[in-house]
Amino acid sequence: MITQAPEVLYDVHECLSWYEMPGRLPAAALAGEACVWCTRPADATAVELAPSAALRRLACQRCYAARLAWYLTWADWHTHFTACTACQQRQTCYVAHGHRLLHEQTAQAIGKTPECLVCPAPLLATELVAPLCWEGNTRFNVGYAHLRCLTARASTR
Ligand SMILES: [Zn+2]
Ligand SMILES: [Zn+2]
Ligand SMILES: [Zn+2]
Repeated sequence: MITQAPEVLYDVHECLSWYEMPGRLPAAALAGEACVWCTRPADATAVELAPSAALRRLACQRCYAARLAWYLTWADWHTHFTACTACQQRQTCYVAHGHRLLHEQTAQAIGKTPECLVCPAPLLATELVAPLCWEGNTRFNVGYAHLRCLTARASTR
């Protein structure tokens, strides 16, 4: 179950609006007449994204909900990971794995291929993976790392 405080959702809305915005937009999306992600003509149910330009930017409900699910499943996974003893001790955790599977489905739905922030290589289903929150001002801070990469990095410090 997803429980998020409204102010958290507001932050998510801003983050999705800023950092998930495609670099190049077709004229219709720039003019606020089409969804910035799928570029289909916007209708009355479109979601207005946080202002990043003088003109308003819109997203269709389907694209918006897909990105929201992508972020929220990561946030749930991350919240679990930071609070779970097994995860913190880098042990196999089935709850974490469940969160990861849900999150990977949402990533796949919007064409994202999660990569390890440390090595960087794709995350295979057989590998243990951690959600990683990272500081970045140019990109959204949803991240991942192989557990073995995290352990290697920690031991070299
Ligand atoms: Zn769309
Ligand atoms: Zn866990
Ligand atoms: Zn790695």
